[in-house]
Amino acid sequence: MNSPSKVELSAALKASLPSRLLFILHKAGEFCQERRARLFIAGGWVRDLLLDRPGHDIDLVVEGDGLSLAGELARQTGAQITSHGRFQTARLVFEQFTLDIATSRREAYPHPGSLPSVEPAPIEKDLLRRDFTINAMAIAVSGDDFGKLIDPLEGRRDLEEGLVRILHPESFRDDATRIFRTVRYEQRFNFTIEPATLKQLKDDKSYLATISPDRLRYEFECIFNEHAPEKALGRSGELSVLGEVLPELSFQPEQYRWFEAARLYSSPEPPPAAVCFGLLSYHLEKQAAKSLGRRLNLPNETCQVITDALTLKAGLDRLEGAELQPSAVYHLLSGFHLLSVVTCLATESRPAVRRQLERYLDELRHVRPLLDGNDLKLAGVAEGPAIRQVLQAIQDARLDGKAVTLQDEIELVKSLLARRF
Ligand code: ATP
Repeated sequence: MNSPSKVELSAALKASLPSRLLFILHKAGEFCQERRARLFIAGGWVRDLLLDRPGHDIDLVVEGDGLSLAGELARQTGAQITSHGRFQTARLVFEQFTLDIATSRREAYPHPGSLPSVEPAPIEKDLLRRDFTINAMAIAVSGDDFGKLIDPLEGRRDLEEGLVRILHPESFRDDATRIFRTVRYEQRFNFTIEPATLKQLKDDKSYLATISPDRLRYEFECIFNEHAPEKALGRSGELSVLGEVLPELSFQPEQYRWFEAARLYSSPEPPPAAVCFGLLSYHLEKQAAKSLGRRLNLPNETCQVITDALTLKAGLDRLEGAELQPSAVYHLLSGFHLLSVVTCLATESRPAVRRQLERYLDELRHVRPLLDGNDLKLAGVAEGPAIRQVLQAIQDARLDGKAVTLQDEIELVKSLLARRF
C-alpha cells in the first residue's frame, strides 16, 4: 500500500482548510521555520483527512516552544488565548474555529489513572504517547517537509483496515479513559477493535476504577456528542464496561430507540447531556441513579433531571385518562424539570401519554394569563397568597379554554371576588 506523497497530502490539506486557517497556518509555519523548529498537525485532524472526512478542529504540535508560537499568533490575529503552562499547551479561539497548540512532548504516568508528567521531545516520541495508531499520525506543515506524513506506528494501514489498536499493552492501565475512547471510535467509524486490543480491554476494564469522576463524566459527554451515542453505549454495555462504572448500569435493547427518539425531538440540536444521562439512568432504582450521579460528579441540575424523570415515570399512567383536562396535565407535569419531561417523552410508547407530554411541552407550559398581579391588586384582590391563587385560577381557565379573551379573565376575577376571594 502506497503512502500518499508529500505533494498529494499538501494538496488535500490545502483543499480542506478555509483560506483564513491556511493563512494562519502559513504564519505559524514561518514563525517555526525562523526558529528551526518543526511544526505539525497531529491527531484527529490527520486521521479525518485520510478518511476524507474533513471538518475536525486542528491540533498543532511544535518541536520547540508551543506557548510562544501561540502567543505570537494571538498577537498577530487578535484570537483569544488560554494557556496551560504545566502541559505546555494553548488554545486559540477564532470566530469560525479553534486551534490547539502544544509543545511536542513525551509523557510518563507515575501511577494508573494519574495525569502524566511531561518533558519536551521530538514528534515521533510525541506520537508514541497517544491512544491509538489511527490517532498517532502527524503531517509536517513547516519548511520543505510541508505535507510529509509522520506515521511511526502504521496508523494509516490500520485506518485502511478499519482497526482501533492501542500502542502498547499497558495503555489501558496507564489511562483507562481509553477504554471508552476505543469503543467510541470503533462505533463512530464502524471499525473493529483489533483482537489483542480487545483482549487487553477486557482484561483491564477494572482500571476504570482509577479514573476520577470528572474525567469519567467527560467520556460520557464525548459519547453523547457522537452522531449516534446509543451505538457506543450499547457496545460499552455489551463489553461490561458500563458495569465497571456502576454495577447496576447496563444498556437495554429499548434504549437504542430512546436515544433516537430524543435526537428526533431535539433536532437540529443534539439532545442536552442531562437528557442523555436521564435516558441512561431510566432503568435504575433511584438509589443507584444517585450513586451514578456521585460516581460521575454530575451537576446538581442533571441529578435533578434524572430523579425527576424517575419520579415522573412512576406516575405517567395518570396521563392516559382520556377525559383529563389540560389544566390537570399542566399540574401533573409543571413541578418537574422540563428536561425530565423530555426524557420521559423519548422513552414513552403509549400514544395517549405521548400526546399529553407533547402537548405540555409544545403548548400548555407556555400558557400565561393576560392579567398580572398588579391588575389583580387594582381590581381589589387582597395582597398575599390570594393573588397567586387567582392568577392560577385564570391560568387554569385559559388552559381549559374557559377564558380566551381579556374580558373573560376580568369576568372570572369579578366572579371570584364576588365569592369573597
Ligand atoms: P475526536 O474526533 O473524538 O475529537 P480527536 O482525535 O481529536 O478525536 P481529542 O480528544 O481531541 O481526540 O484528542 C486529540 C488527540 O490527542 C487524539 O487524536 C490523540 O492523539 C490524543 N489523545 C486524546 N486523548 C488521549 C488519551 N486519553 N491518551 C492518549 N492520547 C490521547
